[in-house]
Amino acid sequence: MNALDSFVSDPRIRVRRDDKPSARPRCVVYWMQRSQRGRENPALNVAIDAANALGLPLAVHFGLHPRYPRANARHYAFLLDGIPEAARHVEARGAAFVFRPYPHHSLLRFCEEVAPALVVGDENPLREPESWRDGAARNLRVPFWTVDSDVIVPSCHFDREEYAARTLRPKIRKLLRRYLKPLGRPRCKAAFARSDRPRSAPFDARDLLTTLPLDRSAAPLRRVRGGRAAGLRTLRRFTTSALPRYHEDRNRPDLPGTSRLSAYLHFGQLGPHEVALAVRRARAPREARRAFLEELIVRRELAVNFVARNPRYDRVECGEPWALRTLTRHARDPRERIYSEKALEAGATSDRLWNAAQLEMVATGRMHGYLRMYWAKRLLDWTPTPADAYRVAVELNDRHELDGRDPNGYAGIAWAICGKHDRPWPPERPVLGFIRPMTASGAARKFDVDEYVASVGRAAAREGART
Ligand code: FAD
Repeated sequence: MNALDSFVSDPRIRVRRDDKPSARPRCVVYWMQRSQRGRENPALNVAIDAANALGLPLAVHFGLHPRYPRANARHYAFLLDGIPEAARHVEARGAAFVFRPYPHHSLLRFCEEVAPALVVGDENPLREPESWRDGAARNLRVPFWTVDSDVIVPSCHFDREEYAARTLRPKIRKLLRRYLKPLGRPRCKAAFARSDRPRSAPFDARDLLTTLPLDRSAAPLRRVRGGRAAGLRTLRRFTTSALPRYHEDRNRPDLPGTSRLSAYLHFGQLGPHEVALAVRRARAPREARRAFLEELIVRRELAVNFVARNPRYDRVECGEPWALRTLTRHARDPRERIYSEKALEAGATSDRLWNAAQLEMVATGRMHGYLRMYWAKRLLDWTPTPADAYRVAVELNDRHELDGRDPNGYAGIAWAICGKHDRPWPPERPVLGFIRPMTASGAARKFDVDEYVASVGRAAAREGART
């Protein structure tokens, strides 16, 4: 493996299995999972460089598993929008893109077929994908590396759970010059002989969406397109229109003040490097660019650190000790009213602003960031225990948000409900104790609630939902 020795000192690379390569390797495999793009992808770059160092062709394997935890038809439709373009970009770099849907999605079986010298994967700190990477490391018979390609600063630099943005920010700042640079675009030097080239399954998104055994609890959206081209259009629109006022408008749900990039980042159709560099280059005031990069880099990578280092990230027990103490002390306080999960999902509460936010999420697959905080906190008033509030928040967020099932979601819910990355907010209040409160009257001072509610009605009508 001498040809590969120089790679493993790269902090972005984690050697999960340090094995001997097979006796007669035929290729290198990149197991594309989280970073669903053929450009601006550090994991793909490592796989191409390694294949070139070994003088082998590269096969990029994309196995479509229909029961990805908590994913439903809405998420799969967005994901499938991005596959043809990822395939084109991978092929343009000289590698073979091999799409294998269920029931032929197994990486191990694919590796038996193509006899790789090395398997390269990407990273995902969530529990289930991490367990799949562990399984691959146990069961593959060749070296297996993963590349931390969806963060700017590799998460290995932060080996403990960070307490707050203020503890992570200075560490990130020190490392940013080293990691926030344009990525290269290497090309494969060797290609498969025609007879050796692994076969890709035919791709028909509509057919896959109807025939795969998917969870159908949230339907695909009609007006939102996934994929890299759609993501880049969204990025361009943002940098030329809303970015200059981002620092002032991002907490105004009544205005189109934020980027709407989270789903493209969640599915890895865009990478954080290209977004950060585009914003750095954009013509916008320094405060605006700085405020955006704080969210994209510090807050987003704080969320990755939280999920990677706190195994209870999707349960209330992940909360800060002071927050769990205060919530326990108020566990028996009478709640404003208990709603069933069904009533909450239908947005049938007494709170007009909350109902509009819930409708926005169900009908359009996104909720404005400011309202996500309010939305999650209100669940403490309407569910029997903080554990129930947390569980319902995770269920609804992950089911309906296009960007759901993401470290940002768990960190956001933990912040809102159990004090993660926050501090106590005296005076002590019923139910919340010292958890930071947010109220509808506070929201009304910040933005035009009537305009927001009306805009959700219009957006839901365009999507064809009942309002
Ligand atoms: P912009 O304001 O344009 O921000 C740019 C990017 O920075 C975002 O796309 C996102 O990747 C990142 N970012 C922004 N705000 C945060 C934040 N607070 N924490 C971490 N990263 C951030 N984000 C998700 O991606 N998926 C979720 O499921 C999710 N659920 C949330 C639930 C709750 C209760 C809360 C409080 C927040 C949640 N967030 C979630 C974080 C944040 O609200 C969204 O990332 C943001 O609203 C997405 O809209 P945007 O792309 O227009 O953001």
